[in-house]
Amino acid sequence: MKVTILEHPRIQSEKRFNDIANTPLWSCLMGGYAATAVESAGHDVRFIDTTVNGWNFETTYNDLIKHTPDLLCVNAVYLWENTGKLFELLIRLKANGFTGHINLFGFYSTLAWETLLDKVSAVDSIAVGECENTLAELACKLGNEGFCADIKGLAIRGNNGNHLFKPRMPEKNPDNFGIPQRAKFKNMASETTVSILASRGCYNHCSFCLVPPFYNGGPLWRGRSPENIINEIKQMIDQGYRDFYFADANFIGPGEKGKRRIMELMDMIKPLNITFGMETRSNDLDEEVMEKLVSAGFTSLLIGIESGSSSVLGNLQKGASLNTSERAIQLCRDFSVEPEVGFLMFVPDSTLEDLEHNLAFLEKNNLLDKLERTANLLSHCQIVLMGTSGYTHFQNKGRLKPKGIFDFEGDVEYSDPRVKWMSELIVHACLYVLRDTSRPESPIFWQKNGQNPICAETNDYLVNLFKKLLMKAKKASLPSLTIIKQEIEQDIKGFLN
Ligand code: SF4
Repeated sequence: MKVTILEHPRIQSEKRFNDIANTPLWSCLMGGYAATAVESAGHDVRFIDTTVNGWNFETTYNDLIKHTPDLLCVNAVYLWENTGKLFELLIRLKANGFTGHINLFGFYSTLAWETLLDKVSAVDSIAVGECENTLAELACKLGNEGFCADIKGLAIRGNNGNHLFKPRMPEKNPDNFGIPQRAKFKNMASETTVSILASRGCYNHCSFCLVPPFYNGGPLWRGRSPENIINEIKQMIDQGYRDFYFADANFIGPGEKGKRRIMELMDMIKPLNITFGMETRSNDLDEEVMEKLVSAGFTSLLIGIESGSSSVLGNLQKGASLNTSERAIQLCRDFSVEPEVGFLMFVPDSTLEDLEHNLAFLEKNNLLDKLERTANLLSHCQIVLMGTSGYTHFQNKGRLKPKGIFDFEGDVEYSDPRVKWMSELIVHACLYVLRDTSRPESPIFWQKNGQNPICAETNDYLVNLFKKLLMKAKKASLPSLTIIKQEIEQDIKGFLN
């Protein structure tokens, strides 16, 4: 059977240009894993990654209508206000003679599968959850005119438009998945970083995160064996890559067992002379692990700290304490690795005191001294997406107004209007600055490396603005948002022009 696996074009959001919450990092490898699985099942697979070849939706349409595979599997990624472009592509294909079966897989289509089956008639089926085995089976069944409703993990429409779906447990041993296919960059630079996945899932259940519901009901975290990971790294080294980023939601994994596996993996990575980065939970880092990581080429880290307020951490079900977070930050610095931090400054139940705690935490841990980082940490708001426990929680409380295409996002009413007022103004100021960092002629253009004194001035402005607004928010009446937004723009223009 002729199968095309598609990573569809991504369009940057105007408003959410700086938000990566639409999909977990590892979804960049999902199409490649799907392609390997379907090919291993004996099918003729074409893997198109438009994030590498640069195709837009028009080019993609032209190619697909010309080649019309028997089965088109699309890793559906939520593109904020541009998500409709993906469905327009599929509808246009079906309207113009595309006869293949159209399947969606990935995080977005897993979390919203019922809605998508109801609303997008061009979609024939959706692989819900881990997709590899489901897609391989789908290709085989379609080829033999088999009955797709028998396939576990596959959601389809019944004769009356009803949903037919039997869940599939995730694969117990992730070593059983082959090495993901990767589209090749035409001109690969020697410093190109290659993404790689060493584990699946996460053992925690943060209320805002897409990872736990994706693996719903299955094992929470599964690590590949060190030998299996090394085999993939060696293949990539043979192709000229030396820098890796582990896209795992939770690289180290739980407890003593997780630690032992990582120590073993690091011993095997060390002689390969590579560099790598990763994301993990703060409570899984200790001195022994850190030492091993750094000696094996570890250079960058993102830790999800999320808040400087214990009560917010509890509400988010983060399962980590402030002390643990501070210890992890310091530990990284002790080993000369500057951590990047995931942080939610504004969540719907924040109080002004929580904001004070957040600011104090960020200042105490010297996290507000680089412009780009400051603008991000001060302004990130909790994003509530369908399928997460946070979405259900706020919906049940009657505080969620669905928004976005097919209601995938939730606009949640803030408990304290003063916090909402602060969030509107701080987000406005920080996004204004962040937009400017991508303008080459700006004094704060990111490639100028933050050396310009105007970067420091802008950084201090944002921190002081936060403090000033916090004071104002405590007063009885709140000044008009429009007027303050104008004042902020004038201030920033003043030192950027
Ligand atoms: S720790 Fe929380 S945010 Fe991070 S991957 Fe796990 S569930 Fe998601």
